Amino acid sequence: MIRLSKSSITNEDKSAVMEVLDNEFLGMGPRVREFEEALSNFFGRQAVAVSNGTAALQLAMQACGIGPGDEVIVPSLTYVASFQAISATGATPVACDVDPTTLQADPEDMKARISDRTRAIMPVHYSGNTGPLERYSALAADFGLRVIEDAAHALGTTVGHGARVGSFGDIACFSFDGIKNITSGEGGCVVSEDQNILDRIRDYRLLGVKKDSENRYAGKRSWEFDVGEQGWRYHMSDIMAALGLSQLKRFGTTAPVRQANARIYNELLAGIEGLEIFHNALDETIPHIYPILLPPSADRVVLRKGMEKAGIQSGIHYYPNHFLSKFASPAALPFPATEAIFPRLMSLPLHLDLVAADQEKVVNVLRTLLP
Ligand SMILES: *Cc1c(COP(=O)(O)O)cnc(C)c1O
Repeated sequence: MIRLSKSSITNEDKSAVMEVLDNEFLGMGPRVREFEEALSNFFGRQAVAVSNGTAALQLAMQACGIGPGDEVIVPSLTYVASFQAISATGATPVACDVDPTTLQADPEDMKARISDRTRAIMPVHYSGNTGPLERYSALAADFGLRVIEDAAHALGTTVGHGARVGSFGDIACFSFDGIKNITSGEGGCVVSEDQNILDRIRDYRLLGVKKDSENRYAGKRSWEFDVGEQGWRYHMSDIMAALGLSQLKRFGTTAPVRQANARIYNELLAGIEGLEIFHNALDETIPHIYPILLPPSADRVVLRKGMEKAGIQSGIHYYPNHFLSKFASPAALPFPATEAIFPRLMSLPLHLDLVAADQEKVVNVLRTLLP
């Protein structure tokens, strides 16, 4: 079976985790501090590590004071994690449409959905690509909004002159779940230059206990403390941090593998009539997934069944969130682009253990199944 996505774990990763297990200190301790330092070096900005990417988004919004009665604008075409993170704060996610040529949030459409309750926009760097980042920032500046980037797909992606996503802008949130560009098992981080935001997140992740992070790094904890606000048990453990650290050290060699795989697909898929690809900036993008739009005449259900029969997994990133009963809003403006592309959207296998022969098989099978 050619898997759609998978973790890639080396012996080095395993020893890093074993070392923590051997020490018999598993919680948030010195490894988390080390991982945060490595992430901060990577981004050139401070990073706070948390339990997962959804928690990173939720805590970033809470730290901005976003809560009940507030609205956050987010593309419908994203993992439900983005939506649940918003509603977890008590705020309402307001779905927006994407640019059908890039699958990134459409800033004009975001603007049309701003109300006097809007507090933030949440662009999603779908597939590892980015949308018009300056336009998102300008929109936020015009309306006094925060920009909280869902950068779960975009670890390592650069824009402009080599600036990494997370190294600029307001607040960026990353995920290190099992299939993301690097993994810490589960895990995530928030990156920002806003010290006040980072300090709040450091407390919120440890049940709101004030200034407990420094103690934890040293393998201690606070016994007498104050709690002023709602907190959560969203910290990262040393087991996770050890794996994340090991994966981040190797990222300089794994990131180019993802790019090379996407380039191979680009070449193999060239010339298939009506099929559209999205990874056109592979000098800058580290691809997390490889989405395509099937030719309009293709039947996606039949096609995916045929691929599965041939031993090839495929995916659909994502079922639009405005179709979900929790997030559907009858009063919402329409979503013409998302609804037009969705029936044609499919993702091909992409992970570090994929070899060129697998990719040839994927595209050959796809070709034979196309009308
Ligand atoms: C993975 C992902 C998240 C959340 O990350 P977790 O670590 O799984 O909680 C958020 N948004 C998008 C687009 C993702 O793909």
